[in-house]
Amino acid sequence: MKYYSTNKHSPAVDFREATIRGLAPDRGLYFPERIPLVKPEFIKALKKMSNEEIAFQVIEEYVGNIIPRDHLFKIVKETIEFEIPLVEIDDCTFSLELFHGPTMAFKDVGARFMSRCLSYFLSLEKRKVTVLVATSGDTGGAVADGFYGQPGIEVVILYPSGKVSRVQEQQLTTYGGNITALEVNGSFDDCQQMVKSAFMDGVIKEKRLLTSANSINVARWLPQQFYYYFAIKQWDDIGNPPVISVPSGNFGNLCAGMLAAYAGLPVCKFIAACNANDVVPRYFQTEEYKPRPVIPTISNAMDVGEPGNFIRIEELYRHYLPEIRNNLEAISISDEETRACIKKVFNEQNYLLDPHAAVAYCALKQYQENNPDDRGIFLSTAHPIKFPDTVEECIGQQMEMPDRVRDILKKQKSSVKIAASFDILKDYLLG
Ligand SMILES: *Cc1c(COP(=O)(O)O)cnc(C)c1O
Repeated sequence: MKYYSTNKHSPAVDFREATIRGLAPDRGLYFPERIPLVKPEFIKALKKMSNEEIAFQVIEEYVGNIIPRDHLFKIVKETIEFEIPLVEIDDCTFSLELFHGPTMAFKDVGARFMSRCLSYFLSLEKRKVTVLVATSGDTGGAVADGFYGQPGIEVVILYPSGKVSRVQEQQLTTYGGNITALEVNGSFDDCQQMVKSAFMDGVIKEKRLLTSANSINVARWLPQQFYYYFAIKQWDDIGNPPVISVPSGNFGNLCAGMLAAYAGLPVCKFIAACNANDVVPRYFQTEEYKPRPVIPTISNAMDVGEPGNFIRIEELYRHYLPEIRNNLEAISISDEETRACIKKVFNEQNYLLDPHAAVAYCALKQYQENNPDDRGIFLSTAHPIKFPDTVEECIGQQMEMPDRVRDILKKQKSSVKIAASFDILKDYLLG
């Protein structure tokens, strides 16, 4: 399988090259030259197959012969070694819980898969790579956990001091080993700017092979298809496929779902559930695509003003908006609606939503008001305990703390405090 750049000014590359590069040299995103279709027999057989077998079949063609089959199977198995249950909330609404992984957010799947692929590639070349990422919260933890102990990889994570939750900070700063957390005295935007500058700096490039682990990397993007297959495996009425509501920020997760549906997975329709950062819902209304400055919200992992992966959805449907609209609705939900929703679902269904899942639930309910016969699934992308302040305020009581969280809060934090300056990051990377 070859991947071309969406900007069309760089040569097509294989899965290995696309994983190591992240972004194409012309700054485009890599996209598969051909979408491998799934056979109807495969869909019928889902219920009888193990998650590992399903995931392996889905990803095999995308990787090609770059990784030997038995090693790829091992990578897939390690990637998804936790449960991904579909939980009934009411007759027509189901939650796909993606937060049972080590850092309790769905990003674990992509980070675990990518880290293991990268390790494999580097082991063949005896090269060392530095993974450099800025995080506003969830990405950092998933990357730290996914890459911890992987040979040949050093990880440097920049996070804004005092602006991530306590649990998130512990998940970034307590690994040690090949993981370094740089605690930046500044904002997430500062962190991101510093990382961007590092990728463009010739001197750093000579000294280190840098790669990014953000969601535009094909090795993080493609394995996200897995959980849509697991959802359909658990769906009770395959003749009437579900609407799937995806809480979206950078649109990587949603785009993976749409790729799976394009390949033949039965899905009635997708909903792009956005918070106040509504570039895509606005685009659908006005047919004008206008990135906007970020608006901070309580679902902060979705605070994105320029959704990086949306171009892949356009690519999938050849930039033909009516076709995209046939498959996708886009709905924006306010913080007020999100809070009301957390409270209501807790009181009426005794189910706890995190703010991101609440946006998806709320968007699904709005859709169902106009389409009462469509049953649906929303993706629960994070465990509510990761956002205790918001959730506890909504439900008016404290949450029970899982043992895993208690354990991580006890660990010793270790970070390197730095000013929000590229020169200081550069010194660190060269030193
Ligand atoms: C990253 C994240 C999202 C957004 O996912 P995208 O693939 O960027 O659209 C949603 N919910 C949570 C909890 C996240 O961490």
